[in-house]
Amino acid sequence: MKQELEHIKDQEQKLLLHTYARYPLYVESARGCSLYDPSGREYLDLLAGISVCNLGHCRPELQQVLHEQAGRLVHVSNLFYQKPQLNLAQALLESCGLHRAFFCNSGAEANEAAIKLARRYYQVHKSQNRQRIVSLQGSFHGRTLATLAATGQPGVKQGFEPLPEGFCAVPAEDIDALDQALEQDTAGLLLEVVQGEGGVRPLSREYLQQAQMMCEERDILLMLDEVQTGMGRTGRMWAHEHFGLKPDILTTAKALANGLPLGAMLAREEAAQGFGPGSHATTFGGGALVCEVASKVLQILQEEDLVRQAAEKGEYFMQQLSRLQSRFPELIRELRGLGLMLGVELGAEQPQRIWQGLLEKGFVCNLSQGNVLRLLPPLVISRQEMDCFCQALAQVLEKQQ
Ligand SMILES: *Cc1c(COP(=O)(O)O)cnc(C)c1O
Repeated sequence: MKQELEHIKDQEQKLLLHTYARYPLYVESARGCSLYDPSGREYLDLLAGISVCNLGHCRPELQQVLHEQAGRLVHVSNLFYQKPQLNLAQALLESCGLHRAFFCNSGAEANEAAIKLARRYYQVHKSQNRQRIVSLQGSFHGRTLATLAATGQPGVKQGFEPLPEGFCAVPAEDIDALDQALEQDTAGLLLEVVQGEGGVRPLSREYLQQAQMMCEERDILLMLDEVQTGMGRTGRMWAHEHFGLKPDILTTAKALANGLPLGAMLAREEAAQGFGPGSHATTFGGGALVCEVASKVLQILQEEDLVRQAAEKGEYFMQQLSRLQSRFPELIRELRGLGLMLGVELGAEQPQRIWQGLLEKGFVCNLSQGNVLRLLPPLVISRQEMDCFCQALAQVLEKQQ
């Protein structure tokens, strides 16, 4: 295996742009919650492709839908009518109570569409000079120029200036700062209910509700980025349901088609008036094949009651992790999360070694912000699998002491 890994690493060095610091694991196939390297060694996947393969890998039902739809219609462009996109729109809108959907191919594109919609809604539909988009420090909204401008992490912006104007990121949980930032020229407030890339940080109920109230009072669009938190991940279909929020615009992507590229921006009727024919478009977005798969994903989520399961399993996982925290209070500084979106903030001097130790034992998770183990397992993970992970983590932590 080592040789195969070295070989593929060498090839990559020559062939690809050096945009990824990859983990030392060569994945050849996957099934359920398991990944397999070329030697056939199994790894338990607690990341699900960053909350993408929420139903587990390579589900036979999805394979079947893919196969059938691939023989019927794959793509016809958005110049024509087709049913799969409509079916998906209907199911998604019913799940959140919003009124209109726009499909694209990624989270960044969904947020890009949301930003464009908010600006155009005020400038064209309401003839108001509102262009500013307010977001939070520590947030992540994507890698296109506008979503980068909205992202509240200075590091990822470096070297890409000039970025589009009209963005401002305020500290999270600071109502006064938000009060000042939401000025008259503000079109929208863009938030992640639980910051994902920022290290799994749920925002407080109080802050979110106040933020929503301020938006209502000032006629500012509340735009929720549920690219990572959407589709059952947090134990509710949409994370904002935990806090009783009513977004004007909702974006999602990652888990939507369980691994195929698909993003969506969902909007309230009024906000949706910002776009008309010709104002926004995409070639691939909402293709028949990927939409048909996504409809099946939604159906499986419901039939298998996976959203409720995510809540219950998340609670169980958190309990088991809390036990570990009492055992290793210095090494586990904080546990955060919602449902099956969990962050273990490490207090170790070299958090990297803990993550590495887990990988060596066959457990895949992510280290975000340098010291937070981010756990985003497939929602179909079993209690036994969560127990195995906790045992492995205990062994790795023991070695650190
Ligand atoms: C991953 C992510 C994005 C970007 O999605 P891409 O599909 O990589 O463009 C945007 N917002 C949040 C909250 C994300 O987690």
